[in-house]
Amino acid sequence: MGGSHWILRYAQNDKIGGTFFVARRLVGLPVWSVAATKLICLDCDSTLSAIEGIDELARVRGPDVFAEVEAMTNAAMEGRVPIESVFGRRLEIIQPRRVDVAAVGQRYVETVEPTARATIAELGKRGWTPVIVSAGFTQAIQPLADYLGVARIEAVELNFGPDGSYRGYDETFPTTRVGGKAHVLARLRREAHPEKTVMVGDGVSDLEARSAADRFIGFGRYVVRPRVKAEASAFIMSLAELLTIL
Ligand SMILES: [Mg+2]
Repeated sequence: MGGSHWILRYAQNDKIGGTFFVARRLVGLPVWSVAATKLICLDCDSTLSAIEGIDELARVRGPDVFAEVEAMTNAAMEGRVPIESVFGRRLEIIQPRRVDVAAVGQRYVETVEPTARATIAELGKRGWTPVIVSAGFTQAIQPLADYLGVARIEAVELNFGPDGSYRGYDETFPTTRVGGKAHVLARLRREAHPEKTVMVGDGVSDLEARSAADRFIGFGRYVVRPRVKAEASAFIMSLAELLTIL
């Protein structure tokens, strides 16, 4: 995929730091300029925030829907079932409305990992560019990204009707499938040519991304998944630990 495609995408898409990108374009700077940077790719759910956004969306539909969706999410995050087998199914059950997604966006901020904001700011001073890489939903993650000062989100776009009702999701986005985060990281590397790429997360989908990263760091503050802990190059319980191990 060529650079001009991305310039167009980011200039046009005001959900992804649009003002920043449009401003850079107007003054002739590269829209996505991370030359000689290092990429720190961060999972969102149960990593940057304590919650699983999809489970919170399910919660508003009552305890039975919540239990069903939560079981599917856990099975996927533990690698017992492929993510694509539950991805669309969970949304079909929930039918999330725009207002529900906005509410989850606020929950992400309220339940932010307590060291995340300061850690990302400090990593930025040390030459790291943060990217949120998630199988969650772009519109729900945007408020958290804004709070954390993260300009780029790689996540799944939801579609809504004029009345705010659910109208499906971007089924082409890689993180809706097994191996999707590795696909996203490989694309980011082709685009930005970083010196180094690190992935941080709690789930098997994050662990899978290590094939496209220089290093995978497991995260266990909210949930410890045995396979992730066993196979990570490091396993941390607070994002602030990144400042000592990177
Ligand atoms: Mg996670």
